[in-house]
Amino acid sequence: MFKNEKFNIAIFLILIALQLLGVAAIWTRFQLIYLPIIAAIYLWMGLGTTLYLHRYLTHRGFEMPGWLKFFFATGSAIGLAGDPVTWVGDHRFHHLKSDTKRTFIVRDTDFPTPT
Ligand SMILES: [Zn+2]
Repeated sequence: MFKNEKFNIAIFLILIALQLLGVAAIWTRFQLIYLPIIAAIYLWMGLGTTLYLHRYLTHRGFEMPGWLKFFFATGSAIGLAGDPVTWVGDHRFHHLKSDTKRTFIVRDTDFPTPT
C-alpha cells in the first residue's frame, strides 16, 4: 500500500500504551475541565496531519506563514505521524496507486464514486 510500509513496533507499543492510559483515566480524578484541553490537543494533532502533512506539504494546496507551519508541524509530531519527508513520500506513492482514470466525481452530489 505505501512505499515505505514498515511495521514500527515502537510506535505500535506507544499507541497501545496511550490507549491503555486513556482507559485508566476512568479510575483517576478526571475533571470536566480537562475536556477542552484534550479536545484542543486532539484537534492540533489532527490538523497537523490532515492540514499540514496532507493538504499543505503533499498536495501544495495553499500557502501559510512560517509560524503556522511550525505550529502544525509540532502538532503532527505530537500525533506520532512520523517525519514529514517519509509521510509525504508515502502519501504521494499512495495517490499514484489509488487515483486512476476510472476514479471520477459525480457532479450532482460531489460524492466520489469509483466505476
Ligand atoms: Zn492526498
